[in-house]
Amino acid sequence: VFSAVKEGAPIEVFALTKAYQDDSYENKVNLSVGAYRTEKGVPWVLPVVWHAEKVLVADETLNKEYLPVLGLEKFSAAATKMLLGDDSQAILENRAFGIQTLSGTGSLRVAAEFLARQLGYRTYYVSVPTWENHNLVFKNGGFLEGKTYRYWDANRRGLDIEGMLDDLRSAPENAVIILHSCAHNPTGCDPTQEQWKLIADVMEDRKLFPILDCAYQGFASGDLDKDAWAVRYFASRGFEFLCCQSFAKNFGLYNERIGNLTCVVKNPDVVKNVKSQLTLIVRGMYSNPPSHGARIVAYVLTDSQLFEEWKGCIRIMASRVIEMRKSLREALEKLGTPGTWEHITSQIGMFSYTGLNEQQSLHMTNNYHIYMLKSGRINMCGLNPNNIDYVAKAIYETVTN
Ligand code: PMP
Repeated sequence: VFSAVKEGAPIEVFALTKAYQDDSYENKVNLSVGAYRTEKGVPWVLPVVWHAEKVLVADETLNKEYLPVLGLEKFSAAATKMLLGDDSQAILENRAFGIQTLSGTGSLRVAAEFLARQLGYRTYYVSVPTWENHNLVFKNGGFLEGKTYRYWDANRRGLDIEGMLDDLRSAPENAVIILHSCAHNPTGCDPTQEQWKLIADVMEDRKLFPILDCAYQGFASGDLDKDAWAVRYFASRGFEFLCCQSFAKNFGLYNERIGNLTCVVKNPDVVKNVKSQLTLIVRGMYSNPPSHGARIVAYVLTDSQLFEEWKGCIRIMASRVIEMRKSLREALEKLGTPGTWEHITSQIGMFSYTGLNEQQSLHMTNNYHIYMLKSGRINMCGLNPNNIDYVAKAIYETVTN
C-alpha cells in the first residue's frame, strides 16, 4: 500500500541545515534556521535555565505522572501574565487564561482547530511573506481557505501599510487574521504603534478575528513589555483574540516544545466552556503536554531573582543581534555595496530580509557556502565578529556580480 505515497516537498530551512552540516568548507556560514548563536557561533543554553534545571532535578517531590490535558497551571498563568502584563484588566476580570501547548507551533495548531471546529471559521489570512509553516498548520487545523494580505514593500524595504489595510478592509467578516505581534518573521519589520492602531480599527470595523503569533517576546527589543505592546493594545481595545506564545527563542528551549495559548474573551462566563472544548481538542491530538519545559519556565517566571537573571539573558541575546545589525550595515556601506542598507538596522528580531532576490540568495549559498533562505532572509544570530566581513564581502560581490 505504501507504494502509492509520493515524496513530499522538502522543508527549505531543514534542507539547508542538512546541506550546511554536510559541507566541509571551512568558512561556511549557516544563516538559515532560526536559532540563537553566541559570538563564538555556538548554541547557548541560558545560564538561568541551567540554574532552574539543577533545582528541579534535585526536587524529589516532582514525578513523571501525566500533566493535566491543558498542562501545568502555574506555567500557563505565569505565561499569560507575562504576555498581558501585571495589571491586565482581562486577567483581573477572569476574561483571560492560558493553556500549555507544544511550543508556538502547537499553540497555533490548537488555536486553528478550535476556531475551525468550534466557531466555524473557514478563512485565514497571512502576511506576504510570512513564516512558511502558518499555511500548513492552518490547513491541517481545518481551515478551508488561506488568503494573504500585503505586508512587505520590496521597493521601500519596509511595511506596505496602505496595502495591508486595503486587503484587510476587503476581507470577509469573521476571517481569521494572523498577525506577528513583534519581530515579524521573515522581514524583521513591525508596524509602528500608530500603524497598529489603524490595523485594529479596520479589524474592529470589519469584524475580523485576530490571532497574534508571539514567538519572540523579549527577544526582539530586550524588553518584555515593549515586545508585548501590540498584544496588550488589542486587549485594551476590548478585542476577543487568541495569542500563541513560544518559549523556544526567549528561553532557548527550542526542543522542549514549550508554549502557551492565551485566550482573551469578553465574558468570563464563557471560559469554562471554551476550556472544555480546548481540552477535547488536545485530548484527541496528543492527550497532554510534557512537563520539563513548563516547570523551567514556571519556576523562572515566578521567582523574582531568577526572573531578573532571565531578563539579563534576554538583553544579552537581543543586544548581540542589534550589534550584528550595526556591524553588517557598516561593513556593507564601507564596501560601497550598491543599494541602501538602512533596513538592516531598522528591522528587529532574529531575522533580516536582506533584499537579495532568489538568484542572489542561491548565489550566496552556491558560491560562498553561506546558507540562507531563497527569499533573502538571514538569521542575524548566525553572524559573529569572525564571519561578518566574509558575509558582507559575499553580499557585495553577489550584488555587483
Ligand atoms: N511563529 C513564528 C512567526 C515563528 O518564527 C516561530 C519559530 N520559528 C514559531 C511561530 C514557532 O516556533 P516553535 O514551534 O518552535 O515555538
